[in-house]
Amino acid sequence: MITCKCGEPAVVQWKRRPTSTELNAARAAETSRRASAAASGPAAPDLPPLSPTDSTIPVYACADHALTPALASLVHQAACAGPDKNGTCPCTPEPAPAADFPDDPTKPKRRLPKGW
Ligand SMILES: [Zn+2]
Ligand SMILES: [Zn+2]
Repeated sequence: MITCKCGEPAVVQWKRRPTSTELNAARAAETSRRASAAASGPAAPDLPPLSPTDSTIPVYACADHALTPALASLVHQAACAGPDKNGTCPCTPEPAPAADFPDDPTKPKRRLPKGW
């Protein structure tokens, strides 16, 4: 069972960037995977090493140690200590990514059913 840092069952999840130790482990695993793929198949593309922004680490929490939904929707710093008792954290999360399909101002707005 996935648990919060306090041991209670997790009910919410958000993401943070990996620490240098976690990034080094991910780089080692990816280097090994690429070497294995190159040895067993056709020439692999020459990919750059994993960067700190290529991956995130899931953070799980119980209801008492959860971030606010707005903060939980963002990617937090590697050193983020998690929420305080108000549901906010001391780090500055990364800004939200731009929408994949931004609104086209030349098209009329479509209305959603109530509650959607
Ligand atoms: Zn907890
Ligand atoms: Zn944070």
